[in-house]
Amino acid sequence: MYALFAAAALLLQQADTSAARLRAGPAPYFQQDLRYTIAARLDEPSGVLTGAGRMWYRNNSPDTLTSMAFHLYLNAFRPGSKWAARETAENGRSWYAILPDPYYAYERLSRVAIGDVAVEARYPGAPDSTVAEVALPRPLPPGDSTVVDLEWQARLSVVPRRQGRRGRRYDFAQWYPEVAVYDRDGWEAHPLYPEGEFYGEYGTYDVTLDLMADQVCGATGVPVSGDPGWSAARATPETTVTLQSEWYGADTLPPIPYTLAPSPSFSGIASPAPGRKLVRFQAQNVEHFAVSCNPDYVYEEGRYGGTVIHALYLPGDSLTWGRGVAVARTARALAWLDRIYGPYAWPQATLLHRIEDGGTEFPMMVMLGGAGESLIFHEIGHLYTYGMLGNNEWKEGWLDEGFTTFQTGWNFQQRGMGVPSRQTQMLILALDLDGWSQPVVLPAEEYRDYATYARMIYTKGQLICEMLRYVLGEATFERVLRAYYARWRFKHVTSERFEAIAEEVSHQDLSWFFAEWLHGTPLVDYGLHKVRRRHTADGWVTDIELERLGDGIMPVDIAVPVGDSTLIVRARGVERRESVEVHTARKPGHIELDPARQTMDWNYLNNTEGADPSFGRYGGPEVVEQHLGWWGDTPVSRDHLVVNWLPLAWYTDAGGLALGFQSRSNYLGRFELNQEQFTWPTGALAGGDTLARGRWRPDYYISMRNPVAAQAPRRETEMASWSVEGRTGARLAISRDLSRQFGGAVHTSAGTSLTLMTVTDARYLDRSRWADTNTAEWSVWREHSRSDDRAARWSRVELTAGEAFALVAPPPVLLPPCPAPGCTAARGSWRGATYARGLVEARRAAQLGRFDLKARAVAAGTLGGTTLPLQRRIFLAGADPYETFADPFLRSRGALFARNGVQYQAPGGGGLRGFSPAATASWLVGVGAEAAWRVVERPSRRLFSTVSVAAFGDGALLDRNAIGRAAAGDAGVGVRAAHRVGPTSFVTRVDFPVLVTRPAAAVAGAARDGMMKFRFVWSLEEAF
Ligand SMILES: [Zn+2]
Repeated sequence: MYALFAAAALLLQQADTSAARLRAGPAPYFQQDLRYTIAARLDEPSGVLTGAGRMWYRNNSPDTLTSMAFHLYLNAFRPGSKWAARETAENGRSWYAILPDPYYAYERLSRVAIGDVAVEARYPGAPDSTVAEVALPRPLPPGDSTVVDLEWQARLSVVPRRQGRRGRRYDFAQWYPEVAVYDRDGWEAHPLYPEGEFYGEYGTYDVTLDLMADQVCGATGVPVSGDPGWSAARATPETTVTLQSEWYGADTLPPIPYTLAPSPSFSGIASPAPGRKLVRFQAQNVEHFAVSCNPDYVYEEGRYGGTVIHALYLPGDSLTWGRGVAVARTARALAWLDRIYGPYAWPQATLLHRIEDGGTEFPMMVMLGGAGESLIFHEIGHLYTYGMLGNNEWKEGWLDEGFTTFQTGWNFQQRGMGVPSRQTQMLILALDLDGWSQPVVLPAEEYRDYATYARMIYTKGQLICEMLRYVLGEATFERVLRAYYARWRFKHVTSERFEAIAEEVSHQDLSWFFAEWLHGTPLVDYGLHKVRRRHTADGWVTDIELERLGDGIMPVDIAVPVGDSTLIVRARGVERRESVEVHTARKPGHIELDPARQTMDWNYLNNTEGADPSFGRYGGPEVVEQHLGWWGDTPVSRDHLVVNWLPLAWYTDAGGLALGFQSRSNYLGRFELNQEQFTWPTGALAGGDTLARGRWRPDYYISMRNPVAAQAPRRETEMASWSVEGRTGARLAISRDLSRQFGGAVHTSAGTSLTLMTVTDARYLDRSRWADTNTAEWSVWREHSRSDDRAARWSRVELTAGEAFALVAPPPVLLPPCPAPGCTAARGSWRGATYARGLVEARRAAQLGRFDLKARAVAAGTLGGTTLPLQRRIFLAGADPYETFADPFLRSRGALFARNGVQYQAPGGGGLRGFSPAATASWLVGVGAEAAWRVVERPSRRLFSTVSVAAFGDGALLDRNAIGRAAAGDAGVGVRAAHRVGPTSFVTRVDFPVLVTRPAAAVAGAARDGMMKFRFVWSLEEAF
């Protein structure tokens, strides 16, 4: 309800401002001026900072201001905040919603005076208090200035998030009342949510901190007086310490019209108490002032040109941060940014090891959880794309996160490191193709969830930069970046302003590019439709016709190989059909679209000449990548159909040794999931009553899933057909992912299928599990799951209606003798019977230290009485024969795992693992439970990476005709081991159901067995 209301309000507001802009035309750029003078004392035992400050503020906007808005960011990290509510709604929990005093953060205004008139702060988002508003005692007309006095108390949270405290460590970010930006859209007084970070007004800061004398601090700005503690913290006696105290110079620093007045909430800044010190920092052209203190910091220093690099790390970091590692990485990042944008414009860059993992950018400094090269590149990159090119992260976060991800990736790709673009493209295509993507320019809290926000802002933002570089060409693109930095340094940038620079430098209209990639979620797909080559008097003329199949528009590079070189021509890509004529001296080779894979074209299978995408047939090594591998999983490729070939061999009593091969394919890991199996029963080693000889016509099992031609968001389709081991059938299935969130904890899906299964050679049937009857079934199902790090829930409901049919021979008395030639024997008649099946299954799993606890409940039943075919009854011990049909080791009589004495348990069905795989019932209600203790945990090992011992018990109520009892149960102990070979993970499980309540129906049971007996079953899957 709230979201709806907020969205409506925002729409109105947008309509209002855009209408106003329409009337007035594009407004000239303006930016407010401000100077902050702050004095603050940190009381370490309580962690409370008491601050007083004066802000001088000049209104450069064309509007007369009647109010003023401030951010009190720290109030996000406490109960009652919008941040906590949003986290709880998305993840089911939030630390900040439940943190008690004195662990949560807060920021409390104790006094606000404007032009010496005390004013009362209002909290428009209450109970969220991350935004405070005050009415101005007198309106502030354009060009006029005012002075605001502020007094406050602030405390950081012990659960760190971009700020935090732990022991004597303090990462101060957003710790003072920060005036909101006033821009052409008015006050940007946005509450703090997990999505979206900062937007600040550029200004000058003069900050005096009253601290314990042994504290070591890194901060925005340069220390101008007092000791930040660096000298005492030097890594080695040779470490130099450069304060740059004179950087701004006495003359250039604007006058600060404020001396701290004595106040009840704050006093004593003039002379520090014994054991304390005053440190004063100054900074200009910064959007914020951050500081971090820790008495254990170790100090190192470096330089890039005139920029001093300060590294403050922890005593245990000497190998990961120390010996110049962090400093050198920072210098490398600054050199790269200098090359692509221009010179760094602040005196220093500080990096420090904060409490929280990850990293956060602040002006002149980054707080980091580690000193990895990519993290340093990302965060130092923000000093440009956030710090010096200030953007509104609640509205256009891609301008900092997308750009910095892009410029880091660009550098790493040049050095042959990092994630290749094709992999990144696949990540985003997964969201685009499933309809999860949302426009890259969207108010941050309007994203469906944090995962989508992060993928769009960071990753898609990166790809948009890469595609713009492709559209403009690298040289022009680099000129755009340099002009963008030169023009907008220390100002507020928007997508529109960046677009204007790009258009100005490139002399191109790029509105189409920014419109579709920032405000839409296009799918790009170009296909090579036709290529015609003609020999003429002067050489060769090639007509290349391409088709635009998606709604996205991108120029398309076309590779025309001629001899040893390749000619690249570019099609506009706008029309649905476009022809390009290429003249060459020699006959060109195979034509290819987007040869460098620089666009988001989601289907590269149709980009190459000679490929025929109809019926999933693709030819040529340009499109198909062949593998021979022992594993069912195939690698995934951005631009190839990957096919994995696997030789097959197995055994059945009826067909003997079967030999054959299988191919499995995929494109992008999600399309063309096709499987083809061809096997020949050789008859070798076959049992007595059997075919006893091979045949030339092979058995086959063919399944095609998710053809590219049937692409639809979150939909899966399957068509399968088989004639294998005496059974012929077909299946059509369709399912849809109904989850509300991308990558969330909750998943819902539903589907339906039609399955025909006929028996064509009964000699293959294991008659204890499968009768000589055909079935046609229609099923519907729905699945729901919820999981987090500790616990998982899963449930499934399935309903099936079926028709069993068989050819019945006429009674013998009616069979007339057939004496004369030309007489036909009487044929049997079809007999049918309708049946139904239903299943409800629920599972839970939880981890408790080294224990894995699991439970399963199942209710299954059938309608159809005695006409129900045996194979469609409810199997007590595990999966029914249709569920295991695709498994050649379980499918037929005498198969390797289905043989007498092998005692394989396929999980499913009634789950009574101690019972015979042939025991069936017409209905059953059962539960199972298992507790496993992980004895061995070696995640790096391939085999036996985890070994657990388990105790289990299963029980069920069932129809009395099934095994002669109305209840059944088993209990025992077992051993499980987890393995990973190649890309395939699997488990080995051995269970010893020593107790079975109905021993005659137990696995390998005999009539005179006692309830307690040594028994075992084994499996390659968990019990549930
Ligand atoms: Zn970032």
